[in-house]
Amino acid sequence: MGLSNLRGVPDWQRRAGPATIIDGKAIAARLRQEVGREVATFTAAGGRPPGLATVLVGDDPASAVYVAAKHRACEEVGIRSFAHRLGADAPSGEVEALIDRLNADPAVSGILCQLPVPPHLDGVALTGRIAAGKDVDGLTVASAGALALGRAGLRPCTPAGVMRLLEEVGVELCGTNALVVGRSNLFGKPMGQLLLAADATVTIAHRRSKDLPLLCRRADVLIVAVGRPGLVQGSWVKPGATVLDVGINRTSDGLCGDVDFAAAAAIAGAITPVPGGVGPLTIAMLMRNTLEAARERQGSERPAVLTAE
Ligand code: NAD
Repeated sequence: MGLSNLRGVPDWQRRAGPATIIDGKAIAARLRQEVGREVATFTAAGGRPPGLATVLVGDDPASAVYVAAKHRACEEVGIRSFAHRLGADAPSGEVEALIDRLNADPAVSGILCQLPVPPHLDGVALTGRIAAGKDVDGLTVASAGALALGRAGLRPCTPAGVMRLLEEVGVELCGTNALVVGRSNLFGKPMGQLLLAADATVTIAHRRSKDLPLLCRRADVLIVAVGRPGLVQGSWVKPGATVLDVGINRTSDGLCGDVDFAAAAAIAGAITPVPGGVGPLTIAMLMRNTLEAARERQGSERPAVLTAE
């Protein structure tokens, strides 16, 4: 890299590893504190307290753990939370009626339908029933469309969390080569859109992509969300690249990501660990989205100011 290309590049991006380990836990804690302060200011100024409703259908233990963590985060930042739990055999009509009630409830600023739902239900259709203004997971067709068209709207929490991490570590995305591995509606596609909106040159790779190692070696920013432990090897990482590992895999050795962390950390400029990297940002971003939804709603509830002219 010539010296002229280094202007504006943080120190750790100018050299190959050992990488700076990005502390997602600390960044998420700061973000929650920031949201907590803003919630306090918003309510002190007369805003209706933000409220998050969760809908959990069935008894999947992992989902119950995630939902409980979301309620704890609400408590920490001063957001009210309403837990709704339905039996594993709840008919679709019952879940739909609950979502309709929550859509109409003024105390609820955001609604989250925890996925996956039991197989007799259609998770996409249920999520799609959530009013766009309360779609704090950013997963409805309306939210995805707003993102694709560059319009205001609620953004999916994990990709929004990755953007926050990139901002915190000072990565300049404009003109950079960014690779997203994985093309899910939940993560890969919205991640690509957010990077594109930040003027990165974006490639999205998936299970049918040819020569993934080559694509990875070209990436200044490498974001991996596949769900395969150690898929990305250290030798695939471009020296000095920023590597964000979104994968969460439960193995006999505990949680790990999709990137061979030790090998990649020796070459990358900065890297997220698993756990403690991208993961904690998701719930922190959910808190931010719930506050944003409450603010937006407050604005639309305010009566129009009538003037004499
Ligand atoms: P998904 O199963 O919906 O999608 C996986 C994607 O990986 C697909 O697009 C597929 O084409 C691609 N893929 C599969 N094998 C591949 C290969 N060999 N090479 C290249 N691409 C390949 O998964 P998802 O919901 O996007 O989640 C992916 C991972 O990220 C999981 O481990 C999940 O647990 C994790 N995740 C973490 C968070 C968080 O940190 N909060 C949030 C969402 C997802």
